[in-house]
Amino acid sequence: MSNSPYVVGLTGGIGSGKSAAADRFGELGAAIVDTDAIAHALTGPGGLAIPAIRAAFGDAVITPDGALDRKAMRDRAFADPNERRRLEAILHPAIGAESARQVSAARAPYVVLVVPLLVESGKYRERCDSLCVVDCPVDVQVARVMTRSRLPEEQVRAIMATQASREQRLAAADEVIDNSGDLATLVAQVDRLHEKYLAAARAVA
Ligand code: ADP
Repeated sequence: MSNSPYVVGLTGGIGSGKSAAADRFGELGAAIVDTDAIAHALTGPGGLAIPAIRAAFGDAVITPDGALDRKAMRDRAFADPNERRRLEAILHPAIGAESARQVSAARAPYVVLVVPLLVESGKYRERCDSLCVVDCPVDVQVARVMTRSRLPEEQVRAIMATQASREQRLAAADEVIDNSGDLATLVAQVDRLHEKYLAAARAVA
């Protein structure tokens, strides 16, 4: 095996079904490196990004147990785009470094690197051998996020407006998982792709 594992980038708009697809790839034996989970860990109690966040924004955005106070930070970032950029300047490099570390430490036939804004980010695209997009109609996406996160429709659509369009993602994809059907249909597609990625990983090993 070569030193760098075969990397499949997995992306899709909010609520498209990335986590559901990643869970299945994980069950099949792929290593999952999830940038959202990494962001959460970095900003959780005692997270590695907490000292830098405290230094930049003060104790007001840190909870008593030493985690990022997400609501306080969201309010500040919403009120002032500069604050959001300062937070991103701390978090993005830390997420990039930690995800790279996890990818190279992975002991699996291939790695699935889950990045919500992968199509928007040249840096992550460069790291992927193949790009897999989870796709479903926008209205289905909206309905699933409203149910999952109990958010009002306008808020879901506002988040989606900050992401690449469905068309932009599809244009960038090497493979598309159609998640407009039920979960069994999603799983069947992941199972087929798994065989393909195993073969691709063997071919470059
Ligand atoms: P993402 O990680 O892309 O934001 P999730 O995998 O969390 O999306 O899926 C969003 C929500 O929709 C979750 O509550 C999930 O359980 C649900 N979901 C995903 N795929 C399907 C599907 N094919 N049928 C029904 N519900 C689904």
